[in-house]
Amino acid sequence: MVPKAGITGLLSSYDQKKMAVATVCSHTSLQIFDGARREGFRTIGICIGQPPRFYDAFPKAKPDMFFSVKSYKEIPARAAELASMNAVVVPHGSFVEYLGVAAFEGLRLPTFGNRRVLKWESDRDKQREWLVGAGLSMPEKIARPEDITKPVLVKFYGAKGGRGFFIAKNYEEFMEVNPTEKHTIQEYVIGTRYYMHFFYSPLVNRGYRLSRGSLELMSMDRRDEANIDEMYKLGAQERLKQFGILPTFVVTGNVPVVLRESLLPKAFWMGERTVERSFELFGGIIGPFSLECIVTDKLEFKVFEISARIVAGTNFFVRSSPYSDLREPEMSVGRRIAREMRLARRLKRLDAVLS
Ligand code: AMP
Repeated sequence: MVPKAGITGLLSSYDQKKMAVATVCSHTSLQIFDGARREGFRTIGICIGQPPRFYDAFPKAKPDMFFSVKSYKEIPARAAELASMNAVVVPHGSFVEYLGVAAFEGLRLPTFGNRRVLKWESDRDKQREWLVGAGLSMPEKIARPEDITKPVLVKFYGAKGGRGFFIAKNYEEFMEVNPTEKHTIQEYVIGTRYYMHFFYSPLVNRGYRLSRGSLELMSMDRRDEANIDEMYKLGAQERLKQFGILPTFVVTGNVPVVLRESLLPKAFWMGERTVERSFELFGGIIGPFSLECIVTDKLEFKVFEISARIVAGTNFFVRSSPYSDLREPEMSVGRRIAREMRLARRLKRLDAVLS
């Protein structure tokens, strides 16, 4: 992990008026670039080889310049070049996935958010320790495959978009796959999925206040997942299995949702507890995070995952969301990140939001 002092030192060499927002050209880059520009930052798109053409179709979200690398693994070695352009990295899921957790932790560039969250987010056992310790309810964890007595979901580590996940109803079904990769076995919760997008600001002291800073609910989505989401069209899964068709959870897109209004107090409570616990565990999460939940027909929330940065489900809300609109119109999560950077720069507190 790059020591905080190293990043603070690097920042002091920056021309802060010319600070630029840099991210990898993927995932949520359109709203990150659009939002940064709307908040007055220059933007740098990190791409492999030739700049991707699709930005030409979205001029408002096209970065001011492209920074081309041979492979994402090359980024750490070229960090000094980015630093000379006063670049601050806004990480997203693909950025961390392509670079790898260790390389990202060691990246010698100021990055938005607290890098120490990665250790807690990238390990499913640590996530559980964090969320359950915060008082949130998670799907039951089944320690050994021999103990499977009800439907379970077998999940692998890392943000691979649900690839390879499988459902088993008993030990025999588990053994049909018998995974060798690191995995966890979780109770399969039946209910409706809500992916809630929060933003924690250590700097803003109004609105939904926490012991320090404040919490905003930006938006919510549900993922489209192939092929599980459309399987019902072909019939029951047992029958499909006979044809060799197995359910998968590969994310292909996102749809916007809102929560029953009476469930909002619980949603905020969950967000609040997650942030408060993070202060105790690793000095606190900063900026966007998502609690990924299933709400059962008893109206109970089961959180199956936390993403500790901007998630792709926010892409729908590039101009508005039923929640963020009630605070300030036209505020995407990408723009909200840039707004926080701008506020921190004005207050001379960049060290509170960058690491
Ligand atoms: P994850 O990698 O934890 O985000 O899970 C990928 C997908 O699997 C989610 O988007 C859900 O559709 C589904 N899922 C995850 N955990 C559970 C669970 N415990 N019960 C039912 N479905 C789940």
